[in-house]
Amino acid sequence: MIDGVERTIVRCQSGALYSTIWIPMASFKAVRLGDTRLQRCPVHRKWERARRVDPATLSAAVRAAAEQVQDIGIP
Ligand SMILES: [Zn+2]
Repeated sequence: MIDGVERTIVRCQSGALYSTIWIPMASFKAVRLGDTRLQRCPVHRKWERARRVDPATLSAAVRAAAEQVQDIGIP
């Protein structure tokens, strides 16, 4: 884990869950755009729309699995 960087769990348009760095400034914009943004999906390896997922709605096992799948760095 990287100190000071919060990872957010998102679901891509194809239904895969993964965690990503959600920059607060960008996050603020993204919320206004409906909590979604376009980014490269580490699961399907293509550009997809990702939507933030409330971790409270996920089981511990699902959340842990999603946290294992991370995109690398900031595009
Ligand atoms: Zn995907």
